[in-house]
Amino acid sequence: MSALSGLYEEIALCQQCEIAKYRTKVVPGEGAEDADILFIGEAPGWHEDQQGRPFVGPAGQYLGELLASINLKREQVYIANVIKCRPTGNRDPLPTEIRNCRKWLERQIELICPRVIVTLGRYSMAMFFPGKSISKIHGTAQKRDNVIYYAMYHPAAALHQQSLRQAIEADMLKIPSLLADTKNVAEAEPPPQQLKMFEV
Ligand code: URA
Repeated sequence: MSALSGLYEEIALCQQCEIAKYRTKVVPGEGAEDADILFIGEAPGWHEDQQGRPFVGPAGQYLGELLASINLKREQVYIANVIKCRPTGNRDPLPTEIRNCRKWLERQIELICPRVIVTLGRYSMAMFFPGKSISKIHGTAQKRDNVIYYAMYHPAAALHQQSLRQAIEADMLKIPSLLADTKNVAEAEPPPQQLKMFEV
């Protein structure tokens, strides 16, 4: 069993939040265990909760099209979420849920060791770019400890708003050059050890 599969078993046992009681399936994440790119969304929705897989509803279909625009398949990247259980009634994740779940995401990052972490939407962005606004920083990259962090709009938001759709499609097209050119993305200030992942 791979270390990531072992981690999924631990995640499936987690009952730290009230929403764990109401989930159909936990949604740990999926993809290539040695992926160069890790996409981090917000939380499972209805479809994901039913299947135990991330981004399998309409937003996931669109994410697949965005990946295809840079010649990638889902199986070549890793896709996870900030929280692993569906918030009841499709509400936004609560700060306590994000705090409780962050250990799982941290361990996924340690095991996958991605070169690029792409945040999808504001909840995911807030963990890596605290205090920033998505409308200002989407499509921009920051390097810390040799990992590139790159913020994008959430595909579900972009699906329904034409201006965000243009932005997310343009931002996706920049990812191959980020990967090819990791040396040219400047390291962030202050020193990297202070800046890994942030409390929200
Ligand atoms: N939205 C997310 O943020 N994650 C999913 O897995 C599905 C929809």
